[in-house]
Amino acid sequence: MADRIERVMVITAHPDDSEFGAGGTVARFVKQDCEVAYCIVTNGNKGSSDRTMTPERLVTIRADEQRNAARVLGVERVSFLGYPDGEVEDTRDLRRDVSREIRRFRPNLVICQNPNRTYNLGASHRDHRTVGGVVLDCVYPLARDHMAFPELLPEFEPHKVREVYVMQWNEPHLVNDISDVIDLKLKALACHASQFKDFAAVEARVRQRSKELGAARGYAYAEAFDRIVIP
Ligand SMILES: [Zn+2]
Repeated sequence: MADRIERVMVITAHPDDSEFGAGGTVARFVKQDCEVAYCIVTNGNKGSSDRTMTPERLVTIRADEQRNAARVLGVERVSFLGYPDGEVEDTRDLRRDVSREIRRFRPNLVICQNPNRTYNLGASHRDHRTVGGVVLDCVYPLARDHMAFPELLPEFEPHKVREVYVMQWNEPHLVNDISDVIDLKLKALACHASQFKDFAAVEARVRQRSKELGAARGYAYAEAFDRIVIP
């Protein structure tokens, strides 16, 4: 089928965001023989409440955790852009770097975070909103247009993404059944051990939210997105 999704790229702010928001959906795409790549914008160097932790150590720990989580889900490639955690700004450098990664991997579908402020503060982290907005700007038009970032040519030719899934918890367009991969999602999430004092509590919260998202469709567990099809 001509419009089959073959390549999926998940672009998020922090190590662990992809698993929280889309780990089940990623696992489903991998099972359907899609190639999946991650692009992580920040190095996650502020994600710790441990006063003995240093930002430098945390960067290495979180990159390893993210690679392990990706391996659990069958994600073949993880790229880290290395921006400082908590300080992401919508700059030309970031737009060029994200456009370059899209042009490099050439996904049919991009999964990203919600660029809008919501009152779910954890999901609506400042870096998530900034990165979500930048990703949409890169999908259209910056990765697509050869005049944008001429310095990327000839190595990174323009690429047109066909679809975007934006992580969404409120009145989502698309509810994905992840019932058969919820355990895999949780196993991948558990790889981010530096982020959890009490993983049982995290698991309970993730199961509860996934249940609520699936309830209206009769799914045991779900993830939810807004879907954008680019004409
Ligand atoms: Zn995050």
